[in-house]
Amino acid sequence: MIFKLTGNSQESSGTRISTRCPHCGHNGTFESLGKDIQNNNIIFGIRRCPNEKCFGHLFFVYNKLTGEIIITHPSDTIPFNKENIAENVLNTFQEAITCHANNCFAASAIMIRKTLEEICKDREATGKNLCNRLQDLGAKIVIPKELIEGMQELRLLGNDAAHIESNTFSEIGKKEVEISIEFTKEILKAVYQYESLLEKLSSLKKPEADE
Ligand SMILES: [Zn+2]
Repeated sequence: MIFKLTGNSQESSGTRISTRCPHCGHNGTFESLGKDIQNNNIIFGIRRCPNEKCFGHLFFVYNKLTGEIIITHPSDTIPFNKENIAENVLNTFQEAITCHANNCFAASAIMIRKTLEEICKDREATGKNLCNRLQDLGAKIVIPKELIEGMQELRLLGNDAAHIESNTFSEIGKKEVEISIEFTKEILKAVYQYESLLEKLSSLKKPEADE
């Protein structure tokens, strides 16, 4: 949910909060809207995105000594290109990203696995389980074989995340999930975005340049 703050600026502690907006994705120095609260060297406050099309709200906790933002709410999410991605795939992957942003790594790994399930369903890949459906997907679409192999790894990570005993991965933490999200972004590009990128490039050519 996006809360837009359109009120006037008021006095604040002058703490500069420069970050990527979790609502619109732009980087900026957030505008102050009210008094900050300072407790020892920790500052709490509210800012709004400087992008006037957004004006999204941001709560922050800031360490004055180290100059670091400790947390924000909403938390920042890993950016990715949403273009052309099938709706169910997109919703599932967004949930994986939201889980990661809130440090729920096992939940994120499960949603990444579900993203693969949704891709298979969208591309009508068949098979008795996800392992077989991914093999079928590899035969149905043009995709580097490394990505299909990587999808099998993500499937195993999701399996581990959903069970009490891990079989394949020693841990499912921030690092594992961040690599998995980066990898899934590449898969989404290959499945949904290469083609439209090529179409865009072709549309820029002069008509007579077509052979
Ligand atoms: Zn914004």
